[in-house]
Order: sequence, then structure tokens, then C-alpha cells
Amino acid sequence: MPAAPLVVQKFGGSSLADADRIRRVARRIARERASGSELVVVVSAMGDTTDELLGLAAAITDTPDERELDMLLATGEHQSATLVSMALHALGVAAISLSGPQAGITTDGRYGKARIASIQPDRVRRELDGGKVVIVAGFQGRAEGDDAAGADITTLGRGGSDTTAVALAARLRATRCQIFTDVRGIYTADPRIVADARQLPVIGYEEMLELAGQGAQVMQTRAVELGWVNDVVIEVLSSFEDAPGTLIKEDPLVEQRNKVRGLAHDRNVAKVTLVEVPDRPGVAAHVFGPLAEAGINVDMIVQNIGHGGATDLSFTIPRVELAKAKRILEPIARELGFRELTTDSSVAKVSIVGAGIQNAPGYAARMFGTLADAGVNIEMISTSEIRITTIIAEDALETAVRALHAAFELERPETAVAQPSAAAG
Ligand code: ASP
Ligand code: MG
Repeated sequence: MPAAPLVVQKFGGSSLADADRIRRVARRIARERASGSELVVVVSAMGDTTDELLGLAAAITDTPDERELDMLLATGEHQSATLVSMALHALGVAAISLSGPQAGITTDGRYGKARIASIQPDRVRRELDGGKVVIVAGFQGRAEGDDAAGADITTLGRGGSDTTAVALAARLRATRCQIFTDVRGIYTADPRIVADARQLPVIGYEEMLELAGQGAQVMQTRAVELGWVNDVVIEVLSSFEDAPGTLIKEDPLVEQRNKVRGLAHDRNVAKVTLVEVPDRPGVAAHVFGPLAEAGINVDMIVQNIGHGGATDLSFTIPRVELAKAKRILEPIARELGFRELTTDSSVAKVSIVGAGIQNAPGYAARMFGTLADAGVNIEMISTSEIRITTIIAEDALETAVRALHAAFELERPETAVAQPSAAAG
């Protein structure tokens, strides 16, 4: 008898927000199980549980101990895993819930942002062999080693259940890894802004990473990276309807689709400008070192050409980090002796992403021309091989997104550009 296909399914918090939804998820799992697959199900905490637990901790203290915080946060996923298992039992489906540690997931010892070190899948395998659906609490593991932190529960960072799912799929060599969420898949742009945004049937790992990194919030970036490295085909799909999702995978046609694949936007952006910074070695290190130490992610950086021994240095950071960044930069400003520190938190980021941008001239010109025609001023620009990003005023964001979607004809289904040689053969 050929081995049954092994499927990993992950359900996010909104899909598990209450008892009704949990029962609905259980019915979906039962259906997949009835088709003969072996099933490992990874769950997030119910609804906004993680935020609520963080809120409780904050109500107790401003400086919760990291270890205790991870113990607390892990309970959210314990809760949902047990309830999904019980809902399956009620449907007559054999199932067992496992915590991350019980599922053999070990991590490094960095509380709150642990990385998976290894997965020892014996227990999961045994339960599958015993005919059970295995429900794994996502977002957590057990610190490796026998030192002080050894055996402690760790969490993987916000959105970390995606990472649990992809890591398990890689380790167990699953035939499918499905991420069930509250949208149907990956879109050419946010459908709440662009009425004719189109769901993509497939997207390459690199394109997905760029979209996610620039504000598309469907999946945790780390999980996509992990899928890429391990060649796990990831399907993002809705848990609320029966509709095909979007496949994230190596796209062999990528070179031939000479196109922008999608737009991402992000409002969680603030711009910081250091005016008239002395133009000498070491200044940038002096500014960005302390920000990095504080865990503030600096994104775009623009330094003007120096004039009269001074230069202006602008960069963007997440808007939620602005107050913290100011506290760090003010003493440095005095030390380095620059004229002024200005900030602007009414900016936003809009990006075009597509493997077709690579080595093809004209995309930047078209993007900037479109924004100009729409009356949108560009404040900063950055690029990667397959992405062009601009910083604009936040109140121009929706105009910009719609104009770009239309200019790059993203509402039209993609057709692979025929390769001359392929056509001839
Ligand atoms: N419950 C965790 C969070 O909200 C992990 C997850 O949802 O993936 O970040
Ligand atoms: Mg969540």
C-alpha cells in the first residue's frame, strides 16, 4: 500500500476565534482526514488571545520577565490545540493535542523571538502511525540544552505559528503545507483599496518575501524564508470558504512573466531626518548602531551629498518605534552636533514587486511617471533586484496604489510571455 499523503494544515487565530469557528475548523479537518491523508494541524491562539495576554502582563508590570512572558503566551496556543482536538473527538475523529515541546520542537534560548533549532518528530510520527490527527500548538518550542534556560518554553515571535507549520512540513516531508487564514490568498494589491485587485494563483518565494517585507501581512516572513530554503510548497487559503488559494513556490515561469506581480503598501512608517550632520567618518555607525541595539529596524536610508562639511541624513523606521528612536537619537544629536532632528509620521510606503523587474529597464520610469501623473510626490526611493519602493505622503497612499495597479494592468490575468525558442520547438 502506498504511504498516505501527509498534509500540514495551519489555522490562524481568526479562524479559531470562538467555539463555532473551532467546530467549523474541526469539520474541515475531518473532511481532509476522511480523504485518507495523515494530518498534522498547527494552531494559533484563539482570536486576539495573544494581545489580551500581553495586555494582562502589561497591567501587572511595565517590565515583565521574558521567561514568564513566554510561559504565559504559550498558553494561548495550548488552549486552542486542546479545543480543536476535543472538537475532532466530538466528530468521532481520533486526535491528540501536543505542545510545541511535546512535538519535539527545540529552539535557541531567546525568549520571545526564539528560532527553531531542530525538530525531533518521533512522538508526532508515533501518533500519526496510531491513526490520530496530531494538533500542534504553534508559536512555541523548548529551549535546547540543560543549562538554566534548558527545557524552558520559548515563543517564536508574533505570527510564529506559520513558522511552526512550515518547519514541521519540511521535517516531516509533507506533501502539502496549507496556511488557512481569513483571506483567500495573496492579491495583486489590498482588495480593500483596489476594487479589481486579483488573487494570484501562484507567487515565487522571493516575490512573496518582498511583498511581506513591504507590508503585505498575510504570512510571517520567516515562514516564507523557511519554505524557500526547504522547498516547501505553501498554499495560503481561506478557512471560511471553499476556494482555491495561492501557491507560494519556485515559479519556473518567473523569467517569462515579464511583469510586476503585485503591490504592497505600509502605513507603519515614520521618516526621521538629521539635518546638517557633520560629514565625517563614523557618523552613520554612531547613529545606526544604537538604533540596531534597541531592535529598531531601519529601512530606507538616504544621505545627501555633503555641502560645507555637513550633510542631511534621512531614514525610515516603523512608526510604532518613533518615540523610542527619538529618545535614543536626542543625546546622540547633541554629541555629534547636528542642527536639527525632524520626524514625519504621516508618510507611507508603496512598492511594486515582480521577478520581471529584474534586468528589465523601464519599470522605475513607469512607476515614477504614474505617481507624477497622479499628483503624488515621491519623498524617498529604494530598490532591490525585484522591487521598487517609494515613500509618499500617507494621505496620497490610496490614490497611488490605485494608479499603480491600473498602470501595470495588474487586474489582467498573467500570461507567460512566449519564449521564441520554445515557440519554435
Ligand atoms: N498567537 C501568536 C500571535 O498572535 C502566534 C500566531 O498567531 O501565529 O502572534
Ligand atoms: Mg495570532
